[in-house]
This record gives sequence, structure tokens and C-alpha cells, in this order.
Amino acid sequence: MIKLLRYMKPYILSVILCAGLIYLQVNLQLALPDYMSKIVNTGIQQGGIETAVPEAVSKATIDKLVYFMTPDEKDAVLSQYTLADKDSGNYSELVKAYPALEKEAVYILNEGAETGNIEPVFAAAFTAVSGIQRMINDPSAAGAAGMLSGSAGAGMPDFSTLPQGTDFFTMLSMMPEQQRDGIISLIESKLTGLDPLMLEQGALIAVKAEYTALGMDVDSLQMDYIKHAGVQMVLFTLISIVANMIAGLLAARAAAGMAQTVRSDTFRKVEQFNGEEFDRFSTASLITRTTNDITQIQMVVFMMLRIVIFAPLMGIGGVMRAFSKAPSMAWLIGLAVLVLLGVISIVMSVALPKFKMIQKLVDKLNLVTREQLSGLMVVRAFNRQKSEEERFDKANRDLTSVNLFIARVMVTMMPFMMLVMNGLTVAVIWVGAHKVAESAMQVGDMMAFLQYAMQIVMSFLMLSMIFIFLPRASVSGVRIAEVLDTEPTIRDPEKPAEFEGPVSGRVEFRNVCFRYPGGEACAVRNISFTAEPGKTTAIIGSTGSGKSTVVNLIPRFYDAEEGEILLDGINVKDLRQKDLRDQIGYVPQKVMLFSGTIKSNLQYGDENADENALVESAATAQASEFIDSKPEGLETKIAQGGQNISGGQKQRLSIARALVKKAPVCIFDDSFSALDFRTDAALRRAMKENMGDSTLIIVAQRVSTIMRADQIIVLDEGEIVGKGTHDELMKDCDEYREIVYSQLSLEELA
Ligand code: ADP
Ligand code: MG
Repeated sequence: MIKLLRYMKPYILSVILCAGLIYLQVNLQLALPDYMSKIVNTGIQQGGIETAVPEAVSKATIDKLVYFMTPDEKDAVLSQYTLADKDSGNYSELVKAYPALEKEAVYILNEGAETGNIEPVFAAAFTAVSGIQRMINDPSAAGAAGMLSGSAGAGMPDFSTLPQGTDFFTMLSMMPEQQRDGIISLIESKLTGLDPLMLEQGALIAVKAEYTALGMDVDSLQMDYIKHAGVQMVLFTLISIVANMIAGLLAARAAAGMAQTVRSDTFRKVEQFNGEEFDRFSTASLITRTTNDITQIQMVVFMMLRIVIFAPLMGIGGVMRAFSKAPSMAWLIGLAVLVLLGVISIVMSVALPKFKMIQKLVDKLNLVTREQLSGLMVVRAFNRQKSEEERFDKANRDLTSVNLFIARVMVTMMPFMMLVMNGLTVAVIWVGAHKVAESAMQVGDMMAFLQYAMQIVMSFLMLSMIFIFLPRASVSGVRIAEVLDTEPTIRDPEKPAEFEGPVSGRVEFRNVCFRYPGGEACAVRNISFTAEPGKTTAIIGSTGSGKSTVVNLIPRFYDAEEGEILLDGINVKDLRQKDLRDQIGYVPQKVMLFSGTIKSNLQYGDENADENALVESAATAQASEFIDSKPEGLETKIAQGGQNISGGQKQRLSIARALVKKAPVCIFDDSFSALDFRTDAALRRAMKENMGDSTLIIVAQRVSTIMRADQIIVLDEGEIVGKGTHDELMKDCDEYREIVYSQLSLEELA
């Protein structure tokens, strides 16, 4: 799995860009609940007024407010304001915004004023003034009673005794300084005991009242605020959607690109495989590995790129913001995460082992499907459809039941998750509502906290999904790495030998022994013979005697275990595989044609061969008659595996393909068996004429095919039991005589 990471290298830039976009997206999404809380708190509850520092305030109000400011504070406040009245230069403009200017002087907040320091000053002053105002208007009001109750004895005037309409502040201004200071410090001490949150909110209400008194349009102020915040939220959402889409695109491209590279690397590797490696990995498994397994990896890489960056950022950011909104409720999130952890770990422990099984079962299904499709005729001939169906059904059912099991586990997990999430919602609202009632929290903050809690839980769930898919992908990763890490046993030498001059094609076996991987006994032993150029060397023997094994050693489909095989005196192991195979025309025992046309199949031997060469080779291989009989001639379509032509025709094309190559060595592994005697004879005659200088190695079952060979090698149970011409062997090789007699009698009977 880790090994496959290097395939991500070309996409590093995409990954970084993707991470950046996701970071942006997370930040935007995390900002949304904050805006929502602002709309609720400031926009709705505070009438759109954000700060206790008013943009305009009448001189009369300032005169009251300054009683509750120290001289320094007063200077600081007034320095940020400009006093405007009827004589001001821009009076006509100002009076539109502040109609009260007609009657009285108004302080206007300077543009770009520093409001940070004076905000608490205003908050306290406004609260004090508005509190006193309320008391005068309604001395029995709860607020007034709470604020100044029982204070009359401590030098506080009894407001109820004041004649209706007497202005408290007029009275205050007439008092001797000492008494006034006493009253003010008393009120201030009452204020310091109040919750800053309440102070702030009280002040904002007073600011709003001041704005109303100035004749300002308070309603549009509120709407503007809400609209402004709303538009920002929509904008953030749009940007985050775009960021999300681009990040998705980048991640998908990186994942798909990586999968493509892995797939082609795997394919290249498999191309280098020889008999031994194919014996190790089954074909079905190699197909699953290059397709399904790589798709798994691609999927997980895509998820990782999105979720592995997104979820932790979202989770951590959410926790930080939730804490800042309402630290006292953070434990609720902790609790929910703990419960989720529990549920997820239970699910994982049940589902994980099953995930690992899936890939094996897909292999199995592929194997059965492949066998049945390629062996369809045989299945029908033996009427084994029922049992094959059962075999397929079993593989299919096994896979389905594991998939179903996993799906069920996942599905049961969902309600639990929903329960936890909804439980968390209820708990946050419950606890939060109490806090709101105690004025310890604003409604908007509670709502924002709720959203953060959801974001945290969701990011947690996403992360847990990764942990569910990762193990399955890591199984796939291991399976792919297995293929990629397999070094083919047959490799090119470090210092390959070169042929000097044209290759004559002399093949020599010296004491060669070979054992199939995993096989106990040697398949062939002590093979020594020389096949001379221009001569025909035939190999004959009963089925399983090792004929194919011997000839497959020449092009190095397998490597000899002992002894050596020489081509023109050079050990085949010292040659580059390409150089070696360039010298060999090979007709395999099992004919394999590729989908395309007759022409494309023949050109497999030599892609530059012209039409004449193809026709000539086809004539030698006795394929002309059948090619000419087709209306499209050389352009006749060949179906996959050559299924649309007969066995004999396939064999002739396979021979023609090897002849097109005009190689110094030509190997025919049981290539004449599907030909009738007449064609067999004609073919040999044509070959004799056209391929005079090549070394011909012919494996055959029929004595008639090889009778006239220059040298006949008789194999029995992997060993050479006779070597010589037909006549020599008839004289002194029992095994050969046996074969000859059995066949002659058969032919005579026929
Ligand atoms: P022939 O071509 O003479 O009919 P082969 O050379 O194909 O015989 O096979 C010789 C022996 O090697 C047989 O006993 C066969 O079982 C064994 N054999 C052939 N191919 C393999 C293989 N890929 N893995 C293991 N054993 C094999
Ligand atoms: Mg064979």
C-alpha cells in the first residue's frame, strides 16, 4: 500500500492544490454558523445594532452619559465625535439621516473612528442612564427595583417623591458635587455586579431608543444588517461549493491518473512474466488484480484526498469554534464522540474480516466465469450446464452473502449514528435553553454551537468511513504490490552477448535437465542433441513424454535447471530475450490467434512484411486455398481466439505466422496434428523448398510426418531413448519401433 504511494508523485501539485481548496472550503463552512448566530443575536434580537458605540447621539444624551464616565473616558469618547448643528456645513445632508438635528445638536461619530476602547464605556453609561430613565418612568418596574432597591437610605433620592416630570439629571446637575458623586458611584457599583452580556444587551436597547429619538430609520437599519449577513452567507456557500467542486475534480483526476499508471505498470510487469510466474498467479487473479483491485485503490485515494484533509480540519476547526461559542457545553460533544467511537469500533471489528474476504471471492467468481465462457462448447457437449450453473451460483452466492453481511452491518450502524446525532441535538437545546433562560447565553450562540456540534460529528463519521474502506483497499494494495514486486525469474543478463554476423540457427542441447516449479521429478533429463541449420530435427514420443517441455526451453519460456542450451554456440541465457526470440519462429501446440484480420495475424510474425511475403508464407503453410476461398481474402475477420475458423485452418495460419518471420530457427510444436495426411505431406514439401537454410525442429505424434527428417529424437518419460534417422532407429530403438508399428497398423486399418 505504502509502495503504491510513489505513484502519487506526479500529482503532488494537484494534491497540494486540492488541500488548499479544501482548507478554504472548511473555513467558509465553519464561518456559516457564526453568521447565523449574528443574524439571530444582532440582527433579530438587537435590532441590527452591533455596538454600544452609537453612530449619532444627541448632545442632551451625551450630557447625561458623561456623568458615568471618568474625565479621561469622557475625553476619549468626545475625541471620536464631531458636534453638528444647524450651522454645520453639511447640515442638509445630515438632517436627512438624523431628522432630530433640526431641534437639537447631535454628536456624529467620526469616519474610521476607533471604537474598541470606548465601547465598554458607552455600554456602562448607556445602561446606567437607561436604568435611571426606566425607574423614573415606572418606579415600581422590576428592573428599577432590582437595580436600586433599598438604596434610598444610602443617600439615594426617593424617586417616588419626585414631582411628576422632574428630570433626574436636571436635579443631579443642581446637586452639590459631593452628593452627586456619591449617587453616581453608588449606581456604578450596582452596574459592576451585572453580567457583561446583560450590560451589553441593555446598552444596545438604549442605543436603539436613542436612534429612534433622533428620528433615524431603525427598521431599515435592522433589515440592512440581516441582508448584509445573509448575502455574505450565500456568497460563502457559493465559494465553498466551487472550491469543493474543483477539489473534487483534482482529486478524481489524481486518483484516476494514478490508477492508470499502476494499471499499465502491472500490465507491463505481467507481460514480462514467464511460465513460472503464470503458474504462481492464476490468470483469473491477474485479471482481478489489474482491474477490480486497482479500482479499489483508485476509490480510496479519491476518498483519502477529499476526506482525510477535510474531516480533521472540519473536526478541529469545529471544536475550536464550538468552544469559543459555549465552552460550558463542550462536554456534550465529547460525550457524543465517545459514544460514536464505541459504535464504530464495534462495527469495524465485525465487518473488517469480511472486507478482506471480498477480493478473494471476486477472484473465484472471475475464475469460474472465465472457465465457463471459454469452455462453453465443452459444457454443452457434456450437458453439464446444471452443475456449472451450480458452481457459478456458489461463487456468486458466496460473494453476495459477504457483501450483504457488510451492507447489513453498515445499515444497522446508520440508525445508531442518527440516534446519537439527534440525541446530541436534543441535549444541546436542553442545556442551551436553560442557559439562555439564565441569560448566560444568547440564542444565536446556542444555534451556532448546535451546528458546530453537527459538523464535528459528521467529520468524525467521515473519518470512520475511511477506516472502513482502507483495510479493503490495503488488501488490494498488497495484491497489486505482489504482482509489481515479482521479479520475473527469466531476466536479461547484465552483459548480454551479441551474435557475430548472421545467425545460422544451430541449436545445441547439452545435458539439459528441467523441473517445473513445484514439480517433484524432472520433466526432462539429460537432454543432449544438436539441430543443424538446413536440416530437420524431429522429436517424437508419447503424450506427456516432455516434447513440448524440451522445445519451450529454446525461446526461454522456462530456464533449464541444469546443462545449457546454445544458439550458434551462445548460451541462450547470455542473450537478450528479444535478440534470442528474434531468431525463432514458433508455432505453439495450442493455437492462439488474435482478434483482427488474417492479415493482422500474419503480420504478427513481422509487422513490416508486405502482402507478397504474406501470400508466400500462406502458400507454404497450405493456407492459400482457404484464404482465397474467402471473399475478403487476407482481410477476412478473425474473431477472438479464432473461433470463426476451423481447427486445421487455425493451425495453418499459426504456421504461416511463424513462417512470415523467416527466422533461422523454426519450432513446430505438434503443429501438424490437425492437418490431413495430404496437406501434411504438401506442407512438408513446401517447407523443404522454401526454408532450406533454417533449422527446423518439429514435434510430432505421427511417424509419417517425421519419417524423412534428418534426425529423429525419441523421448520417453523425459529422457532421450533414441536418436538417428528413421532407418537407424527402426534397427535399434524399441520405443520407436513400437510407435511406428502401432501407427502403421492404424493407418492400414483406416
Ligand atoms: P508432451 O508435450 O510430450 O505431451 P509436456 O512436455 O507438455 O509433454 O509435459 C511433460 C510433463 O511435464 C508432463 O508430465 C506434464 O504433466 C508436466 N507439465 C507440463 N506442463 C507443466 C506445468 N506448467 N507445470 C507442471 N508440470 C507440467
Ligand atoms: Mg506437448
